[in-house]
Amino acid sequence: MSELSYLETLHPSWGQAFIMDEVLFESKTEHQHLIIFNNAQWGRVMALDGVIQTTERDEFIYHEMLTHVPMMAHPKPQRVLIIGGGDGGILREVLKHSDVEQVTQVEIDEAVVTLCREYFPNHSQGAYDDPRLNLVIGDGVDFVNQTQQKFDVVISDSTDPVGPGEVLFTSRFYQGVQACLAEGGVFVAQNGVSFLQGDEVRTSAQRLGLTFAKRGFYTVAVPTYVGGIMTLAWASDSVDLPSVMPRGFELATRYYTPAVHQACFALPRYVAEQL
Ligand code: SAM
Repeated sequence: MSELSYLETLHPSWGQAFIMDEVLFESKTEHQHLIIFNNAQWGRVMALDGVIQTTERDEFIYHEMLTHVPMMAHPKPQRVLIIGGGDGGILREVLKHSDVEQVTQVEIDEAVVTLCREYFPNHSQGAYDDPRLNLVIGDGVDFVNQTQQKFDVVISDSTDPVGPGEVLFTSRFYQGVQACLAEGGVFVAQNGVSFLQGDEVRTSAQRLGLTFAKRGFYTVAVPTYVGGIMTLAWASDSVDLPSVMPRGFELATRYYTPAVHQACFALPRYVAEQL
């Protein structure tokens, strides 16, 4: 590999590599190693602690599916909580919903927000300046276990369960989320690429099942989250997400559609068996 290449180190013996046409920023923040670079195929790319987090070219797929499936299944999502999501893509998609009156975003690393506002302006598209946003810099697990607020939708857009993101896959986090979900509320979370991170699916299925009355997964294929379909976890004490028809709403999207919404709950057997 040329010296200007970036090798993802999420998996010990296999990974994707990028030619870095230009390194735009690299540093060790208080919480994690962060690098932003240009690549001919994917545009600007950000990686945290050796794991690809987002690219300009395919970010819309993940951000639309993690946001609109719970939001379109809720009759009137007015209060939304985002955990993580420092690149601003989830926030941008949440704010497309006119029902939303207030979004709280809890991001552990302020540097990610600052740098993504500068280097990935198309991710947030001004969302960080929206008056409905309450941005909290802190650990998501602490916030959900301390807040008295209630939310209609909680979205965990975290890194993988290594480093600062690890706590966002624990029962303590899930119990905190359950406590701050309003009646009829729904929780969703990124839960890894199931073919390669099957233990994440099994562990989340078990822990979510110990906390919530209903839980499951839905899937999306994100090109730069390599290894096949990504599983997104859902959980609620009152809503069976797969059985809720998405409400009619013309959204400006490039991936999400009502048909995709219904199809994404069809799980391959090797994933369904984990439930
Ligand atoms: N889309 C990516 C994925 O699926 O892997 C995640 C993108 S986003 C960049 C992940 C964010 O989670 C980062 O900004 C990171 O700083 C944040 N994060 C990690 N651990 C956290 C924690 N415990 N509390 C709040 N934010 C956290």
